Amino acid sequence: MRRLLDKPLGGVAAVFIYPSNVEEGLELFTRVLAEDYGADLLGAGHWLEPDEAQTELLFGYFKSVEAAKDFLEKADSEARQTIKNMPHVYTIYDGDKTMAHRPEHSTLHGGYLIINGERVFVPGVTIHNFVDTGMRFIQPRGVHPRPAGAVVDKITLHSTGSERVGAKGAKDLLRNMSARRDAGCHIFIENGGEVWQFADLVRDMTTHVSHRVVKVASIGFEVSNYQWKKNHDDAPSAGRDRPKYEATIHKWRTTHADYYPAQQASVLALCTAICDHLVIPKQVLRAPWRVRSNKTLRAFKGVHAHLHCALGENPKTCPGTGPLDALAASWGLD
Ligand SMILES: [Zn+2]
Repeated sequence: MRRLLDKPLGGVAAVFIYPSNVEEGLELFTRVLAEDYGADLLGAGHWLEPDEAQTELLFGYFKSVEAAKDFLEKADSEARQTIKNMPHVYTIYDGDKTMAHRPEHSTLHGGYLIINGERVFVPGVTIHNFVDTGMRFIQPRGVHPRPAGAVVDKITLHSTGSERVGAKGAKDLLRNMSARRDAGCHIFIENGGEVWQFADLVRDMTTHVSHRVVKVASIGFEVSNYQWKKNHDDAPSAGRDRPKYEATIHKWRTTHADYYPAQQASVLALCTAICDHLVIPKQVLRAPWRVRSNKTLRAFKGVHAHLHCALGENPKTCPGTGPLDALAASWGLD
């Protein structure tokens, strides 16, 4: 193992490569750093258990996740040209001794959630967090500080009631929710499964439900989905391919348009990472599909639906039963 950098450079993300031929990979790594990134201090290592000083140095190099991705993409094409068919693995170290391996030759796959001010790596998901994008809810519209002593032990799933695609979809949702009223959410998942994070999952309380008991303890997910129109032909074009299913909610027979598979995969990856990080049990509240008592909701830890806590004259069916059933199946709860 060689030393990497001898001084901290400031920044947030660290990425390094170790191919099966470690020595050759390190040469490549240092050359790309030097030629494409103008690094003035070079060296490389493949630390599986970096000590604290090394971690800081590794974390120091890239100013943002975008810069790290950009580097990896360049390194990847460089690798293809230079070392044909050499198996290599990119490794991301998130400061929590979590390693994410990327065995295929494609773009870096994974992203960072902001949880209590920390960056937490989530493999398999593209995440645009508010620190990197500047896109966030601003107090007092949609977001408020969590009350002192609040413990985050729930995730609430919603559907937006509209179809929203890509970065434009995220921008529109944030703008509409912020402009309209005190409405917010922590997480937004667009039709392709990409994730936008609009608030810190722990420090911020967002107004995704009015139910106080849930709101103080919950992380709100809004997933792009028009839900369903009375006439199936009325489905917006961006939602036309959604599978439909029927359910019984609040004793009503209801029809729903399901999350797209890419959206459900992001729900699974995020819920798994959040539950692991915040030590929330991987439980899913499901049937009976009706509003639960304050006592039940206060005691419940895990993932539930908006429909479990929507009070008032107009109980919600949001987001249907499908996403909760699918998550439970993925977690092996059936
Ligand atoms: Zn909802």
